[in-house]
Amino acid sequence: MRTSDALWTRFMRTKHVAVTEHLTTAPASQTSSAVWKRMLRVRDFVEEHSQTLIKNGSASFWYDNWIGSGPLGKHRLHVPSPNLCLRDVLHDNIWHLDQVSLSSEEMLRIHHSQRLGFNLPSKCPYCESTDTLAHWFVECSLATQVWGKLEQLLDIRAPSHHDIILKLQGWWSNISGKSAMAKLSHIVPLFVCWELWKARNRAIFDATTPSATHVVRQILRLIHLVALAHPLSLACMDDDWLLKRGVVPFLKKAKSMQVLSLAWASPPASYVKLNIDGSSSGILETLAGGGIIRDQHGHVLSAFSSFYGFRTNMQAEAMALLEGLHLCISLGMQYIKVELDSLVLLNVINGERRCPWRIDEVIARARVALRQVSFELTHCYKETNAAADSLAKRAVSSGDSKVFDALSLPILTTGLCKLDSRQYPYIRYVRV
Ligand SMILES: [Zn+2]
Repeated sequence: MRTSDALWTRFMRTKHVAVTEHLTTAPASQTSSAVWKRMLRVRDFVEEHSQTLIKNGSASFWYDNWIGSGPLGKHRLHVPSPNLCLRDVLHDNIWHLDQVSLSSEEMLRIHHSQRLGFNLPSKCPYCESTDTLAHWFVECSLATQVWGKLEQLLDIRAPSHHDIILKLQGWWSNISGKSAMAKLSHIVPLFVCWELWKARNRAIFDATTPSATHVVRQILRLIHLVALAHPLSLACMDDDWLLKRGVVPFLKKAKSMQVLSLAWASPPASYVKLNIDGSSSGILETLAGGGIIRDQHGHVLSAFSSFYGFRTNMQAEAMALLEGLHLCISLGMQYIKVELDSLVLLNVINGERRCPWRIDEVIARARVALRQVSFELTHCYKETNAAADSLAKRAVSSGDSKVFDALSLPILTTGLCKLDSRQYPYIRYVRV
């Protein structure tokens, strides 16, 4: 009944099955007989325990289990020529496979069955040439169209090769550097391989027709997704060209580095300069502050190095400021230029930033002290605040508090003050 076209077979099929599909896949229909419905209940079990003998080749090429590992068309959504018999494609031990396009996996299954002892080349689902990796990824006209389109779009000259490795090397050695174009020339070949592979699988398993336009569209979609996740930098003229062509949607301007030459500046005549800083020990989170008062010639008038214990960084900075102001006032200094490297604290005192509750009281007292003098409060870079920083660090490591004059100042701080008074330049790189 599966293979014969005899009168009784046709009678049985018409009476009980009432559909034209192969018996192994035919479903029950409204008009199916009770006999057919009962047969369906045991069909899978019977199939599992059946063996197909090739004999005169009347077995179905796609639906019968003639290779021993299940029907060849089992994983196909679309079976070409469903009525194909084995004898249609095999005469006198010679295959005639013009009507079928076998995938590599199907080829291997036939080969492994060892029932016919044949090696069959599988066919490219696009051009029906022999299906090899090199063919699908570089030689096939589908692959050359896809590579060609992207090479034209990105203006990349990668010679046409018959070897996938050489093709990839052609792309990867094309451009180097950090430009968006260089990054794309590195990742796009991977996208090409991935999308070509997906197109091949769709052609074999979903019976779709591969199209170069569709593959290129999918690759451009991937490029857009990558550019969205990691905006590429606009680093050279080629990148500008990429942007104009709309290959990548988002290109950010590359930041350039600016070199700043910094030096401590002495205060104007009649002013003193107070530099203050806070410091913390990384392990115990204990904090300390330091400050140094110098005149217009860079001479040290006074300095302090105080241990504050367990505090927050902001508390240490604020307490050092308060202590420095009190020291200046106690020495009768009226014109003070205060420099600190904490921009946050500067903004808090200037009222441009909300005062954290922990330093509320200290800031209020510092404002009272500032009202008693003429002052200028400015931000400085860490490099030009090194002397105050060295005093804060001293207190962190020693755990005590001291006030110094020019003679008793620690050696390190004395050295830094000498560099400052000679306008020793510090170099800082700033992104602009
Ligand atoms: Zn092909």
